Amino acid sequence: MLEFIKKIFGTAQGRLLKKYGKIVSEVVRWEEKFQSLTDEELRHKTLEFRERLDQGETLDSLLPEAYAAVKNACRRLCGTEVHVSGCDQKWDMVPYDVQILGGIAMHYGAIAEMQTGEGKTLTASMPLYLNALTRKPVHLVTVNDYLVQRDCQWIGAVFRFLGLTVNALTNATPHHLRKSVYQADILYGTASEFGFDYLRDNSMAQSKEDQCQRGHYFAIVDEIDSILIDEARTPLIISGPSAASHQMYDTLKDAVGTLVRYQRDLSNKLATEARKVLEKLGSLEETPSSERKLTKEQENEEREALRKLWLVGKGTPQNKILKRIRENPTLRAQIEKWDTYYYGDTNKEEKAKTLSELLIIVDERSSEFEMTDKGIHQWMQDNAEDSTADDFVMFDLGYEYAKIDEDHALSEQERLHRKVQLREEDARRKERTHNLRQLLRAHLMMEKDVDYIVEEDKIVIIDENTGRPQPGRRFSDGLHQAIEAKEGVAIQGETQTYATITLQNYFRLYTKLAGMTGTAMTEANEFKEIYKLEVIAIPTNRKGQRKDHDDEIYMTEREKYNAVLKDIQEVHGKGRPILIGTESVEISEKLSRILKQNKLEHTVLNAKNHAQEAEIIAQAGSKAAITVATNMAGRGTDIKLQPGVADLGGLHVIGTTRHQSRRIDRQLRGRCARQGDLGTSKFFVSFEDALMRLFTSPRITSFLQRFRPPEGEAISAKVLNKSIETAQKRVEQRNYTIRKHTLEYDDVMNKQRTEIYAFRNEVLHTDDTLLLTREILEGLCTQMSHQFLISRSTEHGWNPQGYRQWLISHFPLTFAPQEFENDYLNCEEIAQMATDQVLLAFDKKLGHEAEKIGHVQSLFAHQPQAQMQPEEVLREVIRSLLIRNIDRMWQEHLLHIDHLRTEVHIRSVGQKDPLLEFKHEAFALFDSLTLRIKQEIAHALFKFEMMMPAELPEPQPRVPQRPPRPLIDLSLMPPQL
Ligand code: ADP
Ligand code: MG
Repeated sequence: MLEFIKKIFGTAQGRLLKKYGKIVSEVVRWEEKFQSLTDEELRHKTLEFRERLDQGETLDSLLPEAYAAVKNACRRLCGTEVHVSGCDQKWDMVPYDVQILGGIAMHYGAIAEMQTGEGKTLTASMPLYLNALTRKPVHLVTVNDYLVQRDCQWIGAVFRFLGLTVNALTNATPHHLRKSVYQADILYGTASEFGFDYLRDNSMAQSKEDQCQRGHYFAIVDEIDSILIDEARTPLIISGPSAASHQMYDTLKDAVGTLVRYQRDLSNKLATEARKVLEKLGSLEETPSSERKLTKEQENEEREALRKLWLVGKGTPQNKILKRIRENPTLRAQIEKWDTYYYGDTNKEEKAKTLSELLIIVDERSSEFEMTDKGIHQWMQDNAEDSTADDFVMFDLGYEYAKIDEDHALSEQERLHRKVQLREEDARRKERTHNLRQLLRAHLMMEKDVDYIVEEDKIVIIDENTGRPQPGRRFSDGLHQAIEAKEGVAIQGETQTYATITLQNYFRLYTKLAGMTGTAMTEANEFKEIYKLEVIAIPTNRKGQRKDHDDEIYMTEREKYNAVLKDIQEVHGKGRPILIGTESVEISEKLSRILKQNKLEHTVLNAKNHAQEAEIIAQAGSKAAITVATNMAGRGTDIKLQPGVADLGGLHVIGTTRHQSRRIDRQLRGRCARQGDLGTSKFFVSFEDALMRLFTSPRITSFLQRFRPPEGEAISAKVLNKSIETAQKRVEQRNYTIRKHTLEYDDVMNKQRTEIYAFRNEVLHTDDTLLLTREILEGLCTQMSHQFLISRSTEHGWNPQGYRQWLISHFPLTFAPQEFENDYLNCEEIAQMATDQVLLAFDKKLGHEAEKIGHVQSLFAHQPQAQMQPEEVLREVIRSLLIRNIDRMWQEHLLHIDHLRTEVHIRSVGQKDPLLEFKHEAFALFDSLTLRIKQEIAHALFKFEMMMPAELPEPQPRVPQRPPRPLIDLSLMPPQL
């Protein structure tokens, strides 16, 4: 047993595996013992384990027995029918040793890297069972609702057998049931359901009964790389209509469309001109330029044409004519020479001059763009009526304010008025510029059927790496609305963020986190650095039989697809099933057309028909099946070979490009040859693929120039394999930096969110809100006293009058003129005096309102149901008042933070580190937020009034997400959202 361990012994991983290997043997021994128990006795083990835990035993010490209980339960289930996804299946699984090993690694908080088909679903059952013995919340997170259901029903059989409860949380789980769903010992669900419930619990719930989650103890994330790395791009956001609408996407969208079209036309014109010249000079033929005799003048003409093409590449990188010309390696190299030429310092000015012919400069590699002076000019000319020259000029508010202050002709009142006006104008301009930029981004950088699809008048994000649609998620910062404007679908009303979190930060809430996936090694560093998760490669149960062929590399896409087709025809002819991975919905459809033209029957699986995913995958292993899929097909459901197929050589996997990360390539390859089956994989690459175009070194171009093979023939050279990998590493590194960056920004918010949510939860959970309110009032009085009463020794450090003034303007209080101006009082004593008065006034206020409640209740005294004590009613009213103020201020804060994030980047021109700036200012904003929350609460506490039923106002239109509140609560201030 465990032969494999000897081979890798010596490395740190090896030593760990050896240690765990010993535990595996223990599990196996215990399980043999358990075989003689009756079903009842085995079931009783769960109770016994729980008791032993209560008596102080640890999970670690219970592990061997608990895992053995699971293994033994599996054995007993063998042959029984389990109802899974609509049909009955015979249970036939007893965990292999390697699965026990993986289960141990996960209990110790690692990511178990186990190949596709190794049985991760069953592996998870052991750590889930063990950790659920604590009665604390244990969650298994998986990639889609289908798998949630399937795994819960399937593996749930084991838990049910052992007397634990298990449940499934999907998008379809109704809200009123969620609280009870979360009570399960073990809960299966998707990351976004867990995350959104957390946000709702902390930003929407109006009482503790409304909250459904019961904490975060242990989570296993299935396909963890997909969730923590691929989906890291878009945070979860709960948003709702906002009070004031500022968005200008509607008004700006046509104008931006026009501007982008100008640029496209301009590029087309330049490219056409260039092509004509090249045609005339014979440069388009494949003869080396040295053999053509050009006059000096003709040489100049050619040079100019190539310069134009270079320019087209900077403005419209995807231009068709340019693409076609670049297929010729000589011309491609000559165009790229301009890059080198302009790179030099001496030619900087000339470069700027050349680029200024464009309206917009687009940098595909960094997905950035920039408007040129010409572009700005064009914009202002086209939009003269509804904009001023100011779209691109921002105010220096400090300077403008100073100017107003110096204007002695103005009264104090007028100055204030001017400043307010100026601030509003400034906000409007910023908003407009921001909308404009996002619209341009939507046009220039976001591609339909690649980055998103349009479905039922909605823009649905497609995850870049997994190819899965992500309904309900939105690109942040207005980009989503910009895309809606671009595609002409309904622009979702101006929304305001109510709550937001990245999945990464959601998972950090768990006391213990573990993961499993087939592909984590390439990102092991990131997991370790950011999540403190170690990756442990678990050996396979049987020796892998997959054969990975070398890549076939072609000059052009056209040749590449021809080669793919040839490969498909050949393998298909042998009756083997084929899975073809594609990078985007667009490519999957293109390939489907090619197959159709060649009368090859096939099935397509992409974001547009993902509902049939499981069904399509189940058929993908049958004889001669052809399945074209985006990357989503890589997760969760494995492709089983139908009888006879293994003898033909098993599944053949084709990659139609190398992906931006090696991990995605591995994921695709891993689809075949599961559990010791036969299988092959092969990738096809062309120099027009995004990866090669954007990320390989210029040396490759010159290499190609020398080695351009005849049309249709693959280029085989070891140096290329290496350079593909280097390109991938480069992109991986870049994407890692981006993710880290996003996380660093979110970290700042995370601390603040945690603090506010903790406060909010205190309000929801406290029995006595009145006590809490008094503490808030006291805290506020004390905090402010420190601002006015610092020290007696400095002139402005002691200002009892100012303190009095502040108290008067915030509370309905009156003070004697000299109050607090007693030389013997220190700051604490004064604060105490103030607090006493405030609390006294507050008690009076409460008494008054309680009386009114008593009166209303007496009117309804004939009604049979028991009535709450007036004090009880007030407690609830005040709870609601506190929550509403916290939420309102927090939402406002989120908006400010959003703006700040954009702003610091504009500022970063000034050589300041935007992240530092952001941290600094976010901190200051939060500081003032906490003070303002207290102040707002204080105001509200003295302002609210219970009303007589006759006085109740007409119901106000409400923010839809708000759950209905008790009648009496209607009398609170009108909602201010
Ligand atoms: P993974 O998630 O690792 O890709 P799955 O959990 O989907 O793999 O399991 C793949 C297949 O292997 C399933 O069909 C399952 O029935 C089978 N399997 C897993 N573990 C065992 C086992 N111990 N004995 C027999 N079959 C198993
Ligand atoms: Mg799986």
